Amino acid sequence: MFGKILIANRGEIALRIQRACRELGIKTVAVHSEVDAEAKYVKLADESVCIGPAPSAQSYLNVPAIISAAEVTDAQAIHPGYGFLSENADFAERVEQSGFIFIGPKAETIRLMGDKISAIRAMKKAGIPCVPGSDGPLGINEKDILKLASQIGYPVLIKATAGGGGKGMRVVHTEAALLNAVVLTKSEARAAFGNDTVYIEKYLGNPRHIEFQVLADTHGNAIHLGERDCSMQRRHQKVIEESPAPGLPEKLRHKIGERCAEACRKIGYRGAGTFEFLYQDGEFYFIEMNTRVQVEHPITEMVTGVDIVREQLRIAAGEKLPYRQKDITWRGHAIECRINAEDPKNFIPSPGRITAWHPPGGPGIRVDSHVYSNYFVPPYYDSMIGKLIAYGDTREIALARMRIALSEMVVDGIKTNIPLHQDIMNDNAFIRGGVNIHYLEKKLGL
Ligand code: ADP
Repeated sequence: MFGKILIANRGEIALRIQRACRELGIKTVAVHSEVDAEAKYVKLADESVCIGPAPSAQSYLNVPAIISAAEVTDAQAIHPGYGFLSENADFAERVEQSGFIFIGPKAETIRLMGDKISAIRAMKKAGIPCVPGSDGPLGINEKDILKLASQIGYPVLIKATAGGGGKGMRVVHTEAALLNAVVLTKSEARAAFGNDTVYIEKYLGNPRHIEFQVLADTHGNAIHLGERDCSMQRRHQKVIEESPAPGLPEKLRHKIGERCAEACRKIGYRGAGTFEFLYQDGEFYFIEMNTRVQVEHPITEMVTGVDIVREQLRIAAGEKLPYRQKDITWRGHAIECRINAEDPKNFIPSPGRITAWHPPGGPGIRVDSHVYSNYFVPPYYDSMIGKLIAYGDTREIALARMRIALSEMVVDGIKTNIPLHQDIMNDNAFIRGGVNIHYLEKKLGL
């Protein structure tokens, strides 16, 4: 096992990774921007290095500064967390070229999955069901584009192969609007991603977002840890996640989960990863793979008892997975609410000083957060200040515990989306379970 690693991230995930390291006896190096110097996880780390001013581009995305920090502290490996550099293949390559281990997949795998067209091709080959669409980039022949779209059937979605964060996508409902939409999406993609390659797929009208967690070691073993339902979204951003997905037939979970594990073996995947699918009318359609730990990983940890971050560290150190698929069992139900520093009505970020912080507790409650009373939420980064996770033997119990936890939770001094979560926990459609990805925006009148 490693003696010391560097955590190239901030906030709750920096603290989460540190905790896993401590359990394994690994020393930690925190890197931080100037505004994060006083953060709790920085103080708790064995060592810390300031890597630049507040803006991410000059600190958390500053590759030379992060590599130098690993060099001066003699760290052996770098954990990228989520966001920032976690899915940057060039960073993973630089890390390994500089003699450190990147705690994640190989750079070539990140590159393969980072390009939507190559990801879909690899997944189709590996037996993963994908959305019907163009088999590769759209050409320039207008007749061919029109023919392809009518074969797929309207509405269709034009997507940039380099797209991300819900950007670089356009829905087209009629043939008359198609060619113009292709031109627009291409020019947007060129401006945003420096790559104007686009493709077409069928636009699904009312899907749920269901994703599968996988773990793969460097000895050819891969397992899945079941699914998470992340359909409660606003602007393609997840707000609430739960596991298992309400109403998903057990057989289907095993079938799709096993295909994901098999795909990992086929592409030589390494580490933790997530296969994201849209799920509609009993069918799964792959949309993308995330080659990193996800914000919502705790709900899977709660229902399987597997520590995903610990396994990431063990896999990176070359150890074998301690579980086979048959060892994985699912028990109970877990729900996660992302607690954001934002206005619960208009979603405008609400940074500032937290004057009082009282996290909830009790049976089945987990709070993953780096904040505390008198913590200042800086305006430079993501507005998520923590995650509240409720577990119970049944979904009803998990829901009841979440309601109690939300009512106990006090965050004074800034606005948070706790009232929105309370509203959703009492929403009849959510209580029934299985709402689709448009539900929250419709409910909010957006
Ligand atoms: P990004 O990399 O930008 O997150 P994704 O491919 O994951 O792009 O898609 C983001 C979101 O867009 C999905 O979660 C879903 O809400 C919607 N979406 C993507 N593909 C389709 C599709 N074929 N039909 C309907 N909605 C889609």
